[in-house]
Amino acid sequence: MEKETKKRSWKEVLRLHWRGVKVLHETSPHFFISQVSNGVVGALTPYVTIWLSARIINELAGLRRPEELRYWVILTLVTEILLGLLRYGLNQWAAALDKITSVREDLGPYVKKLFTMDFADVDNQENKEKLATITASQNYAGLGFYTLRIAVCKLVSNTAGALGALALTVSLFTTPVSQGSPLSFLNSPLFLAAVLGVILLVTLVSGYLNGRQNSLFLNMNDEGNLGNNFFSAFAFIGTRRKASVDMRLYHQVKVVRHYMRENKTFSYGGPYEKKVVKPGSWYGGFSASLSAVLTGFVYLFTCLKAWAGAFGVGYVTQYVSAVTALSRNISSLLSIPGELQGNADTMELIFSFLDIPHSMYQGSLTTEKRADRQYEVEFRDVSFKYPNTEIWALRHVNMKFQVGRRLAVVGENGSGKTTFIKLLCRLYDPTEGQILLNGIDIRKYDYRDYMNIFSVVFQDFQLIAQPLGNNVAGTMEYDRARAEKALIDAGFGDRLAEMPKGLDTYLYKELDKEGVEVSGGEAQKIAIARALYKDAPFIILDEPTAALDPLAEAEIYSKFDQIAGDRTAVYISHRLSSCKFCDEIAVFDHGAVVQQGGHEELLSNENGKYHELWHAQAQYYAQEGMEAAASPLPERSLAEGQ
Ligand code: ADP
Repeated sequence: MEKETKKRSWKEVLRLHWRGVKVLHETSPHFFISQVSNGVVGALTPYVTIWLSARIINELAGLRRPEELRYWVILTLVTEILLGLLRYGLNQWAAALDKITSVREDLGPYVKKLFTMDFADVDNQENKEKLATITASQNYAGLGFYTLRIAVCKLVSNTAGALGALALTVSLFTTPVSQGSPLSFLNSPLFLAAVLGVILLVTLVSGYLNGRQNSLFLNMNDEGNLGNNFFSAFAFIGTRRKASVDMRLYHQVKVVRHYMRENKTFSYGGPYEKKVVKPGSWYGGFSASLSAVLTGFVYLFTCLKAWAGAFGVGYVTQYVSAVTALSRNISSLLSIPGELQGNADTMELIFSFLDIPHSMYQGSLTTEKRADRQYEVEFRDVSFKYPNTEIWALRHVNMKFQVGRRLAVVGENGSGKTTFIKLLCRLYDPTEGQILLNGIDIRKYDYRDYMNIFSVVFQDFQLIAQPLGNNVAGTMEYDRARAEKALIDAGFGDRLAEMPKGLDTYLYKELDKEGVEVSGGEAQKIAIARALYKDAPFIILDEPTAALDPLAEAEIYSKFDQIAGDRTAVYISHRLSSCKFCDEIAVFDHGAVVQQGGHEELLSNENGKYHELWHAQAQYYAQEGMEAAASPLPERSLAEGQ
């Protein structure tokens, strides 16, 4: 489980992070400038205070001239007020941009990628795992863009801090004590080199200890991610409304408790405590003691020099603060390379996700905008395997659609019906064979243009927490009259009339406490209205009604027949009775089209799959109900029937 992060060349580490900086800059253009200005001003202002106070103390401990004192006090006050205002302003600006950037970096690049990558890649298990690992590493140790952001801010403020401290420190070494003094050995270059050596040694050891402390955390990344996953899967499961019913009925709380107890990553005495907290507190404690020793050492050296008359007592505080700040800033700078090295795996993973190429061929032909909607689609010996699987989901499918008519795709669950639609809509490309639109391979069309000729209502359609009208239109600006008509055609008219703000009523309550909850059946009507609003030449219903009973499904399908008008409608169902009215029925079995034709024709073949399925299903329904389900109801509109 424990994994040492892979050691990479520094060139590679820098290349990955430099690219990360560019992505962050694109995501939030003012982020770096705000952090740099805030970091520099924040790091330098304490030195101004130190420098000015040293002057005041010197005057107090020395000549005590009122004029001089007044001058330094007023200068200190004015400078402090101005710097305070500047710091506050920059701090607020940087904090606001930091918040904005943290949200944008979490979402921006990934969402953009998810919306633009090939659907086959979104659906690919390997890519899903990649994204899950990135998110988990981000949540556990802040790896990825967050660590990069912190490292850049540290680099800026620690460099400015170190340079400022250095400027105030130089004179500590260059100002000599008088030659006759018994402490004149303090001037000796050897002695000065030894003092510098001690400061440097403490700084390096502190930097090393901080780095070790950090790496403890990073080395537990995989285990920490797993612990976090358990926690997020089970800790709040009781608060999820949908889960809480099953949890009660099946006493799942025992299972949850088991997993929460079994995974002891963050428990008292667990791996996190043993591998990170305990050793980390040793490293941290040792590093803090060293800093205390350094402060004592610098006090001794500075006081001796002041004692010997090299400078006034006022400088003692200045030098001690400056030297300790110099050491602190350098040791913090030294920890940055280790942090970037530890972050490199995640940055590489992030880019391997963001760089997933478009593997689908992107054609440029436009689909003819035919007023007569006369499109012809042909599947020519199409076979398909899902990525990373060995099973043929479709095998040698040959089919031609009679455009403008009704096609039913029926078959048992898992027989390939949805896959057939996914290929038709070019969510995937066939592994073998071709799909042709008006005689031309669909890969040669412009992808978006091709997509525009299909409206599909999938089984697991999604509505979002935004106003009803926007859900139907899929855009912010839309034709209200058309959206209303689509809803009425889909049978949502009565419910729409009851809605407090009509099309502007929010669905669900996430964004508006006056939002409305819709039932499964109502949601399905809204999804159908969305498909109608798109007004595409092909309209496809892929069992969006699977949750309804067979009679209700058959009724919706047959009435939908009218609303579909001159569009080509494709209905998918594992229930044969729902699709009986269609002109053409394609029967799928184990990924192949085993029969095709009209209902009567298919039923008359007693050895055919259709006959077998029809009779197998018929026994579940009362004959009376079956007839009702199977016969179309052309005289009523779907709107009336709901
Ligand atoms: P149907 O719509 O008729 O129920 P599907 O087209 O969904 O059937 O499934 C056909 C076959 O493809 C099944 O064996 C199913 O397990 C497999 N399959 C469906 N979706 C995926 C996927 N995303 N990855 C791998 N296999 C899949």
